[in-house]
Amino acid sequence: MNTDFDIAVIGGGPNGATAAALLARHSGVAPARIALIAPELLPAAGGTVSTPAAPDLRVAAISRASEQLLRNAGAWEHLVQERVCAYERMRVWHESAPHDGPETLVFSAAEIAEPNLGYIVENRVLASAGLTSFRAQGGQVSGERLQSLQVDAGSARLGTSAGEFTARLVIGADGARSQVRELLKLPLRAHDYRQSAIVATIATARPHQHTAWQRFLGTGPLAFLPLFDGSCSIVWSADQRLAEELMALSPAEFALRLDAASDRVLGATQLLSERLAVPLRRATAVTLVGVRVALLGDAAHVIHPLAGQGVNLGFLDAAALCEVLAAGAAEGEDPGAARLLVRYEQERLTHDTLMSWSMSGFNELFARGPGPAGWIAARLLGLAGASAVLRRGFARRALGLAGEVPPLARRAPGTAPATARPTAAVSRATSW
Ligand SMILES: Cc1cc2nc3c(=O)[nH]c(=O)nc-3n(C[C@H](O)[C@H](O)[C@H](O)COP(=O)(O)OP(=O)(O)OC[C@H]3O[C@@H](n4cnc5c(N)ncnc54)[C@H](O)[C@@H]3O)c2cc1C
Repeated sequence: MNTDFDIAVIGGGPNGATAAALLARHSGVAPARIALIAPELLPAAGGTVSTPAAPDLRVAAISRASEQLLRNAGAWEHLVQERVCAYERMRVWHESAPHDGPETLVFSAAEIAEPNLGYIVENRVLASAGLTSFRAQGGQVSGERLQSLQVDAGSARLGTSAGEFTARLVIGADGARSQVRELLKLPLRAHDYRQSAIVATIATARPHQHTAWQRFLGTGPLAFLPLFDGSCSIVWSADQRLAEELMALSPAEFALRLDAASDRVLGATQLLSERLAVPLRRATAVTLVGVRVALLGDAAHVIHPLAGQGVNLGFLDAAALCEVLAAGAAEGEDPGAARLLVRYEQERLTHDTLMSWSMSGFNELFARGPGPAGWIAARLLGLAGASAVLRRGFARRALGLAGEVPPLARRAPGTAPATARPTAAVSRATSW
C-alpha cells in the first residue's frame, strides 16, 4: 500500500527527536519518508527554537553510550557547546555518614582513563540538537499534536488538527503519558512511588567542581548536578508529604532546608529558579510493540531518576530499533513488519524492565533514615567505594562502556576516548 510516510515518530522530546535523526541516517529509510511530530519544539504556527539564557529545569546526565549515539545521529555537532557541562566525578553518600568520610562512594573519570563521566545537558537542548540534525538531513517535521491513530495490517492512519496522513510504522516517543500507547490501549504496569522529585536551579557558596553529588536520605535521594554556568540543578526526591511541605516554603526557607538536606556539601545554597515537583512512578509497557507500532523512551518505561538513566535508556531503545529496521531495509522489508518489531522487543524489553526494577531496588535499599537500616546502607556504599574493581566496574557500566550496548551506541574498539566538545548553535525550524 502507498503511504505518505514510511515512519512517523510521535514526540519531539530528547528521545523522539534523537531517534528521528538517527533513523534518518542509519535505518535505510529515506529521510524524506520519515515524519517527526514535535509540538513542543515546533509550535504549530512554526517559528524558532529558542534557548532562554537561564538553565531549563529539566536536565539529564548523559552517558558515553549516549554521546556516541548522538554522534551517530549527527546531533552531537548541533548541541550548543556553552550549554553542556562535562562532569568528572560523582560522590554518593548516605545521610548517616559524613560527606567527606570513608563511606562516600566516589566515581572518577581519571580512574577509568576517560575524560569525564558524561555530561549534564538540558532536555530541551538535547531535543533541539536532534531536531536540527533531522531537518538538515531532509526529515519532515510537524508542530501539530497527534489526536487519533488507527492501525490495520496495511498501514497506520494518523490524525492531527492539520489533517490525516498515513505511515507504515508509528514510533511512540511521546513520553510517560503516551497518546500512542493510550489510543491503541497497549497495557502498562505502573507503581506509584508516593514521592515527587523537586527540580530547581540553585547557586552554591562553593563551586560544583564538575562533580555530581548525591546524598541518600530516609525520605529519598537528593542530587546536585553541575551546570554549564556554574549553577547546579537539583533533583530532590521526597516522600509526598515532605515534597508538598517543601514546595510551600518561601525561597529562603527552602534554601535553608536544602542546606541541611545536602549536609552543606557545597556550602549555603540559594534558589535561582522556580521549583517544579514531578510525581514519581515506575511504569513499564507490558509490550513495546503493537500492529505497526513501536514504543521507546518514557512511552515504554518510566524509571526512578536516582541514577539518571531515563534518557540514556531511551537512546538505547532508539539504537536497537534503528539497527533492526536497517537490517529489514537491506532485505526490502516493510518497516512496520511484525517480524522486525518482535525482534526489537526481544532486544529491549528485558533490559528495560531490569533497569526499571533495579532503580526501584536502589531506592528501597538506600532511602533509609538514621537507624540500623541506614547504618547498613551507609556501610554498603562504603564497601563498594573501598573496592577499585567495583568502582571501575560500576562507572564503566553506567557510561555504557561495558555490558550489552547496541552497536550504534558503542564506541568503536580501539578508539581513543573523545575529548572534543560539541559545537554549533540551535536550529531554526518550520512546519512541513
Ligand atoms: C526529576 C527527573 C530527573 C531526571 N534526570 C535524568 C537524568 O539525569 N538522566 C536521564 O537520562 N534521565 C533523567 N530523567 C528521565 C528523563 O527526564 C526522561 O526519561 C526523558 O525526559 C524521556 O524523554 P522522552 O523523549 O522519552 O519523553 P519526554 O521528554 O516526555 O518527551 C515526550 C514528548 O512527546 C510530546 N507529546 C506528548 N503527547 C503528544 C502528542 N499527542 N502528539 C505529539 N507529541 C506529543 C511531548 O510534548 C514531549 O515533547 C529524569 C526524570 C525526572 C523526572
